[in-house]
Amino acid sequence: MVPTIAHASEERRKDNQTTDLCEEARQMEWFESEWVCIAEGRGLALALPDQAEQLALTLDGAVTDFERYFAPSNHNVAVLSTPALPAEATAFLKERGFLSLPWITETSRADLIRSSVERQVRAQTQGMSEEQRAGALAQALAQLGDLDAGAPHPPSALELGALAHEAGHILFKEFYDGDARPANSITRYGSSAADWIDELAAVLNENDDLTKGRYANARKRLEKGEPANPFALAEFFEMEHPSLRAAQALRERSGKAGDNVTLVLSGEEAEQFLKESRGDPSEFYLQARLFADFMLDTTKDQRVFAKIANGVKADGSFEAWLSANHEELGLAADIVGLEAQFGAWVVQAFAGEPDS
Ligand SMILES: [Zn+2]
Repeated sequence: MVPTIAHASEERRKDNQTTDLCEEARQMEWFESEWVCIAEGRGLALALPDQAEQLALTLDGAVTDFERYFAPSNHNVAVLSTPALPAEATAFLKERGFLSLPWITETSRADLIRSSVERQVRAQTQGMSEEQRAGALAQALAQLGDLDAGAPHPPSALELGALAHEAGHILFKEFYDGDARPANSITRYGSSAADWIDELAAVLNENDDLTKGRYANARKRLEKGEPANPFALAEFFEMEHPSLRAAQALRERSGKAGDNVTLVLSGEEAEQFLKESRGDPSEFYLQARLFADFMLDTTKDQRVFAKIANGVKADGSFEAWLSANHEELGLAADIVGLEAQFGAWVVQAFAGEPDS
């Protein structure tokens, strides 16, 4: 059954090069026996049969999105259904023009579901005796059935959005740093650019399902009487990614250096990771989403972030870039002015549509 699916998809491909690539990949020691290899345009998936095609299509779309906002890329993107990328696989794919991402395996997906059920049950059974709580948890877990058995599930829309987000990160890192390993790479979340610029590149690549969730978070904040944007811009431009420290700690724990860090976390790892994050990472993503929307809407320039990234890279400061380029883009001249402009835009963007 597995070879049939791979064969059918590959037959549709006109690109012989990629078919050769799949054939070559299958000979490699790191190629896992349950994988198929499927290429769609500029995306490649080495994954389970029921998942590979959607993953490859998502990556193809992600490269297109990245190029719309930044610049034509020399790279395609591959995803491998493994929680930790083998270095040999990354090198093999890099030589053939692909950046690589690891992805949720069936085991880590089952762990994620189990730990989320556990969290829910713990929250719902507060105030009960430990014995009652343990009983309720056992019952809830039993109802899940055997998550590790059966056919793999097709990826959810949120998972595909998360994959596109991660593709945005690695494409941006390649765009900004290339093969250079900047001295400060350890103290940054993605590329050597400020964390907010990295996160913008990733958020711009997300699908509608994730974006809707971000806007829902903004409305929740408004309902609580808070501004939709979690941070002042001056703070946002300076802050480190809330998960930076957690990522460093994880890297140290797993004993892995540099890019080989595990991206997909099992239940326990994920909880530890959140505990070690400073504040709520979702606020950082929401801020990035709103600032991206504001800039696109105000400047009417889809390449505005490419211009910022190039400007910051050339002379190191967003403030200097803004001062030199604000006029033609319809932006305020400095960060204080931009703050006011952004604040007004956010208020207006959410006015009169409480739950659309
Ligand atoms: Zn991100």
